[in-house]
Amino acid sequence: MKQDFIRKLKEHITEGVVLELEPMGRHTTFQVGGPADLFVEPAGREELQYAVETARGDHVPFFVAGNGSNLLVSDDGYRGMILHIGKGMSQIVVTDTVVEAEAGASLARIAKAALEKGLTGMEFAAGIPGSLGGAVVMNAGAYGGEMKDILTEVDVLTADGRFLTIAACDLDLSYRHSCIPHKDYIVLGARMLLDRGDPEKIRARMNELALLRRQKQPLEYPSAGSTFKRPEGYFAGKLVQDAGLKGYTVGDAQVSEKHSGFVINRGHADAAEIYFLIQQVQKKVNKKFGVMLEPEVRFIGF
Ligand SMILES: Cc1cc2nc3c(=O)[nH]c(=O)nc-3n(C[C@H](O)[C@H](O)[C@H](O)COP(=O)(O)OP(=O)(O)OC[C@H]3O[C@@H](n4cnc5c(N)ncnc54)[C@H](O)[C@@H]3O)c2cc1C
Repeated sequence: MKQDFIRKLKEHITEGVVLELEPMGRHTTFQVGGPADLFVEPAGREELQYAVETARGDHVPFFVAGNGSNLLVSDDGYRGMILHIGKGMSQIVVTDTVVEAEAGASLARIAKAALEKGLTGMEFAAGIPGSLGGAVVMNAGAYGGEMKDILTEVDVLTADGRFLTIAACDLDLSYRHSCIPHKDYIVLGARMLLDRGDPEKIRARMNELALLRRQKQPLEYPSAGSTFKRPEGYFAGKLVQDAGLKGYTVGDAQVSEKHSGFVINRGHADAAEIYFLIQQVQKKVNKKFGVMLEPEVRFIGF
């Protein structure tokens, strides 16, 4: 990577973080992934805007990451800049029934803030281990709720470097999909409209969903949650199981024995093993049922 680019970023990004050759295994829930040439965590919109403009001007590739809970980064890492939207952009403000948060705030913290103000509507999201930015991009959802139900407006940085506020209904939000990656938007923050509720009931629902997750999901192992999207008319986990792939193993990567929809890292898997396993599962399920599973997980550096 160009030394001049690194120097400029280090000079300008003074509140945030700029790291060279940062192992991505530290920033993904699979806990695998080689070094990013540059890893930048901006502290605010201006630092983010500067990093993006400079990368574009200097023709340095970059990738925006949230909490890395839906990412598989290759063992070779990423040749370019990972822009991590995290702690430096994670404020949460609750006004009446509106929760406004920056993209780096975790869903868990936002759901907790809502609970503390007696607001209902975010219970579904409390156990999803992503950032708000990642959740908007993926239209994350669980147990009958999805981000689409509560989002009203999203602030983005556009591909040509402008700050813009977009109504959620204009983001083409559908099952694990938004138009954000195609438009090259970077999510800066969002507003969510909730309802007043009974804090005890909200807490009880969150506890109930957390228990369901612990019972059904292999939370004791690193993973990226559901590996595949739900194909129309099927359940991915059931297809994988019916193809005889429950417990199927490549190196230390495995189709979870607890939930066939999850690929897990049993401890020492590398990204290549996980990637190969995912491809094998796709092939075998396709051969048996004629259904090509589409990964929900995003691959970087492959
Ligand atoms: C144990 C476990 C359980 C899970 N359960 C669920 C679940 O129930 N429901 C569900 O939907 N998901 C679930 N997931 C998957 C994951 O948590 C969600 O997809 C989450 O929304 C990803 O957020 P993130 O911040 O980690 O995004 P990342 O994984 O960092 O990134 C995901 C995508 O979003 C983009 N992105 C991230 N932040 C921004 C930003 N600020 N601006 C622009 N693009 C951005 C990235 O470029 C990438 O394309 C689970 C994962 C795990 C590990």
